[in-house]
Amino acid sequence: MTEELRDGYDVVVIGGGAAGLNGALMLARSRRSVLVVDAGAPRNAPADGVHGLLAREGMPPAELVARGRAEVRGYGGQIVSGEVRTVARTGDGFTVTLADGRAVTALRLLVATGLADELPEIPGVRERWGRDVLHCPYCHGWEVRDKAIGIIATGPNAVHQALLFRQLSADVTVFAHTAPPGPEQAEQLAARGIALVPGTVAEVVVADDRITGVRLSDGTVLAREAIVVGPRMVARGGLLAGVGLVPREHPSGMGETVPADPFGRTEVPGVWVAGNVTDLAAQVGAAAAAGAMAGAQINADLVTAETEAAVELHRAGAAAAR
Ligand SMILES: Cc1cc2nc3c(=O)[nH]c(=O)nc-3n(C[C@H](O)[C@H](O)[C@H](O)COP(=O)(O)OP(=O)(O)OC[C@H]3O[C@@H](n4cnc5c(N)ncnc54)[C@H](O)[C@@H]3O)c2cc1C
Repeated sequence: MTEELRDGYDVVVIGGGAAGLNGALMLARSRRSVLVVDAGAPRNAPADGVHGLLAREGMPPAELVARGRAEVRGYGGQIVSGEVRTVARTGDGFTVTLADGRAVTALRLLVATGLADELPEIPGVRERWGRDVLHCPYCHGWEVRDKAIGIIATGPNAVHQALLFRQLSADVTVFAHTAPPGPEQAEQLAARGIALVPGTVAEVVVADDRITGVRLSDGTVLAREAIVVGPRMVARGGLLAGVGLVPREHPSGMGETVPADPFGRTEVPGVWVAGNVTDLAAQVGAAAAAGAMAGAQINADLVTAETEAAVELHRAGAAAAR
């Protein structure tokens, strides 16, 4: 869809998931000209519903985004479908260039592009991701309660995940795969009645549109109904290289983020971030809240700059009148 763009905006929001849309909502309600550019692929798109979100429990992700878009547009915010390729500093602001070649300027940027989940390359995992291949007990744990759950260990977080899913089902198995637990962790698993299976996983077995088991490299198949993996989470922040910002390794070892202060302000003046691009652990509610906070902070930053400029003009006018 092609929409007429203005040459310039107070704020361009890059990414229109929970974080970007809530930021845009705050800005539009503050009578800021705001453009949201959104590539339309929120991280939770494969899931049936958003869970753990007060008053919107179970709402399909696409419906949440559609409602958010309507709310932003209701206050005059503009939203276009598209992908931002580059951002560059120009004058007092920024130039934002889309993949289709269109370019706009902005005084401030809110980057809410989310993250990419890098899944283990095991047949069956990508196909079932977000349905019965899971990562988060708070997003889909209730939905697999009492089921036969398998955790495929690819990093140090696997045992933690197993212990959390054990809260939801008595039938949890950890597949040692590429990250076998150490003795202390193995003891924790045993103490909680969680089976530990050595060897690598060759395939997640799918039949009749559901997971039925896990095939090990030696050919053994163990029945399972849901699988848990621990993807590496990488901020979609590559487009910020043009303003000198690069995602950094997160101290947890779980991925990369674009660092920012608690209000979303980055080390580059004028550039804010919100949601998963800076906070790997943010669920939808936290991402939306961070977007709202960043939107409010950007408005306050613009008010400060505009007041400084107005005072200078005011003084100049007073001096000329003397
Ligand atoms: C399978 C799965 C299920 C989940 N279930 C839940 C759940 O039940 N409850 C819950 O609270 N959380 C859940 N989450 C987490 C949830 O997805 C995130 O908390 C949330 O999506 C973060 O919001 P965000 O706005 O930061 O990023 P996103 O929602 O990922 O939005 C980022 C947007 O930016 C766009 N974008 C990226 N790059 C560009 C670019 N260069 N130009 C323009 N647009 C761009 C993307 O296309 C996307 O639309 C789940 C996650 C997964 C993976």
